[in-house]
Amino acid sequence: ERAKYEGVSYLAFSETLATAMFGRYELLKDLREAILNNDIVAYFQPKVSLKDNTLIGFEALARWTHKNGSSIPPDQFIVLAENSGLIDKLDQQMLQQSCKAINTLKSMGIHVPISVNVAGNEIIRPNYFDQFKALLEEEDVPNEMIELEITESQFIKEKSTINKHLSVLKTLGVRVNIDDFGTGYSSLAYLSTLSVSTIKIDHSFVWRMEESEKDWQILKMIIELGNSLGLNVIAEGIETEQQKEHLLALGCGDGQGYLFAKPMSLEDTINWIQSGL
Ligand code: C2E
Ligand code: MG
Ligand code: MG
Ligand code: MG
Repeated sequence: ERAKYEGVSYLAFSETLATAMFGRYELLKDLREAILNNDIVAYFQPKVSLKDNTLIGFEALARWTHKNGSSIPPDQFIVLAENSGLIDKLDQQMLQQSCKAINTLKSMGIHVPISVNVAGNEIIRPNYFDQFKALLEEEDVPNEMIELEITESQFIKEKSTINKHLSVLKTLGVRVNIDDFGTGYSSLAYLSTLSVSTIKIDHSFVWRMEESEKDWQILKMIIELGNSLGLNVIAEGIETEQQKEHLLALGCGDGQGYLFAKPMSLEDTINWIQSGL
């Protein structure tokens, strides 16, 4: 699983694998078909408060099982969807499945928000809000229950449009998370002028903090600055108790990672909640 995130070698591997197994065109054709059939499923990964492990929300992550039975990782098919105009439809489906999950959990007495990942190009589309509002109304979910995750690198493109659209989202009560924070080389000072509520610190800092003094210092600075700007700070990719303890000591309030749970189907999510977290 971890090899997935180790950059170039994985990408090189997956590119070859995808090409060897299907060919790029085949894969795109199958992806289009999977999206049209609503075959892509939202899995949910818990977000917890680090001091007491209480559940504070979930993140929806897309999962695709190819019709030949193999599971294709998002790092492969999301890019494909983005480059072929399919991402809007896919993200709408993940949003809809998240709305349904919110209502299922609500019926069990669990009221927590779910965040969905959105491609930066989507939220700058003029009709994004209309679609968003219509879907939430149709599913009877209050705007406050959905959060959006947009990667840091998307914020630096189309600055003025992003800025305007983030303000609209804020007035709608939709919280925005800056995903993979620390990888986009943007300044937190600039980002703090935008209407965002949360920074999600990229897992690479969490994984390197114990080996690299430099990463430890950057992490410390991000957490302190985030806290002092009144932003929620959440760390991604927490795998060990020790990482969790370090993050707590540095003042990071919230976290997500395999230490708590992997992304799960809705059914497993419900079992996980019922088994007492
Ligand atoms: P992301 O939004 O930064 O999601 C976090 C990724 O880290 C997820 O990978 C998650 O499964 C993984 N992860 C979480 N905790 C741990 C941990 O403790 N250890 C390790 N090794 N990994 C952990 P995933 O599901 O493969 O997704 C990869 C990326 O694909 C996401 O990064 C997101 O950028 C994109 N993505 C996934 N689903 C969607 C979607 O529905 N729409 C869009 N636009 N993008 C999506
Ligand atoms: Mg995310
Ligand atoms: Mg991330
Ligand atoms: Mg990511």
